[in-house]
Amino acid sequence: PAADPTAPIRMRSYDLSAASPQERAQLLRRPVLKYDEMLTKVKPIVDDVRVRGDAALLELTAKFDKAQLTSTVLRPPFSPEMMQLDPAVRDAIDVAYANVYKFHAAQAETSTMLVETMPGVVCSRFARPIARVGLYVPGGTAILPSTALMLGIPAQVAGCKEIVLATPPRQDGSISPEVMYVAHLVGASAILKAGGAQAVAALAYGTQSVPKVDKIFGPGNQWVTAAKMLVQNDTDALVSIDMPAGPSEVLVIADHTCNPAFVAADLLSQAEHGVDSQVVLVAIDLSDTELSAIETELDAQAHALPRVDIVRESIAKSNTVKVRSVEEAVQFSNDYAPEHLILHLENASGVVPLIENAGSVFVGPYSPESCGDYASGTNHTLPTNGYARQFSGVNTLSFQKHITSQEVTADGLRGLGPVVATLADCEGLQAHANAVRIRLRAL
Ligand code: NAD
Repeated sequence: PAADPTAPIRMRSYDLSAASPQERAQLLRRPVLKYDEMLTKVKPIVDDVRVRGDAALLELTAKFDKAQLTSTVLRPPFSPEMMQLDPAVRDAIDVAYANVYKFHAAQAETSTMLVETMPGVVCSRFARPIARVGLYVPGGTAILPSTALMLGIPAQVAGCKEIVLATPPRQDGSISPEVMYVAHLVGASAILKAGGAQAVAALAYGTQSVPKVDKIFGPGNQWVTAAKMLVQNDTDALVSIDMPAGPSEVLVIADHTCNPAFVAADLLSQAEHGVDSQVVLVAIDLSDTELSAIETELDAQAHALPRVDIVRESIAKSNTVKVRSVEEAVQFSNDYAPEHLILHLENASGVVPLIENAGSVFVGPYSPESCGDYASGTNHTLPTNGYARQFSGVNTLSFQKHITSQEVTADGLRGLGPVVATLADCEGLQAHANAVRIRLRAL
C-alpha cells in the first residue's frame, strides 16, 4: 500500500544512558547485507562475460539496460556533440575538477624515501602508478558525474596509463554528456558502455574490446558490489578492488548551538540517497523543545523534496540517539565508524582530535556533507558499514603502489652479513646463510 503522504516523517529516538549493552550494540549495527545469495546470483553473469566476452556483454546490456549496442567501448577523442552541457553545469564541473585535483595532487607521492638503517645499508621506498584501472560510475537510477570526478581525478594524478570508465548506457545507447565531459577531463582511455556485474566482469577479465584492468574502483548497487567481491577472489582475474561498499551513511552530532534547519537538511541530504541509507543523529543534552525543533524542520523539509518517498522509508529506519556529553557522543560515533560525520557543535574543530573512526568529517555549521560530495576537494568514495575502522576513503595513494629497494655496500655487508647469517642458521635455511657468507669470504 502507498504511504500516507501527510503522515509525519520522523526518526526513532533512544536515550543512550537507558540502553542496555544489547540495545547499544543494535544502535551501532547496519542492516545485514546478504552477500552469499548475491554472489550466487552474479556468478553466472560474471562467468558468461569471462567466457564469451563482448557477445555476452552486448546481450546482457540489452537485457538489463534495454540498450541495443553494436559495440561497447568508446575511445578518445570523444566528440564534442557527446558532451554538450548547460554552461552553468560545465562551469560547476570545472570548479569541482580544479578543487578535487588540487587536493589529490597534494597527496601524490613523487619522491623516493631513503633511509640508511646501518652504515652502508640504504633502504628506499618509491611509488608507481597502478597501470590499468577500472572506474565504475553507477548509472542505473541517476547520472553521477561527481563519482566520475572522484575516481577519475586521483587516477589521473597518480599517472595510471589505462583509465577505463564503465557506466551503464541510456536506452538509446548513449552516455550522459556530463559523464562524457568528466571522462574527457580526467583523460579516460576508454569508456565501457555497460553496467552491473557484467561491467565488473569485463574490467576484471578483459574482453575482445575491453582492456583488462588491475584494480576496480567505485560504488554501485548490490550487483556491482557482489561482482567486485567475486572477481577479487579469483586468482585468474588478478584484480583488486578499492573497498567493500555498502549503503551510504551519515552521523550528525549536534549540541544546543546547532541550527535545527541545518541539522535537518544534512540528515535529509543523506536520506535521499536510497531507502537503505543510514542516518543517525547524536543529540548532546538537547531539551525536548530543541529536539522537536529539529523534528519539525525534518518533517517540513522532507515533505517538500521530490524524493520524499525514498526519504520517508530511510528516515523511518533512522535513529536519534540522546547522550549527555561530547565525550559520550564521540565515543558512540567512534564505535559506529560512520562514512560521513558532521559536527554541529559549539567547538566543532576542537572535537576533531577526538575522532578515531570516520570516512570524512564535516566541521561546523557551514560545512555540509554536500560540499564534500561534489566540489570542496575531498573524495566522496568512502568506507561504509563500519569499515572506517580499517579503511581510508579513495585517495591518490589508492591508485599507486609502493616498491621498496635496498643497496648494501661491501662495508654495509661486513656489518649486516653476520646478523643475517645467524638468523638464517637459526631458521635452518642454509642457502640463505650461504648467500651472505660466500660474499663475506670474497671481501
Ligand atoms: P548501478 O549502475 O549500480 O546499477 C545498474 C546496473 O545494475 C544495470 O546496468 C544492471 O546491469 C544491473 N542490474 C540491475 N538489476 C539487475 C538484475 N535484476 N539482475 C542483474 N543485474 C541487474 O546503478 P543503480 O542501480 O542506480 O545503483 C547505484 C548505487 O550506487 C546505489 O546503491 C547508490 O547508493 C550507490 N552510490 C553510491 C555512491 C557513493 O559514493 N557511496 C555514489 C553514487 C551511488
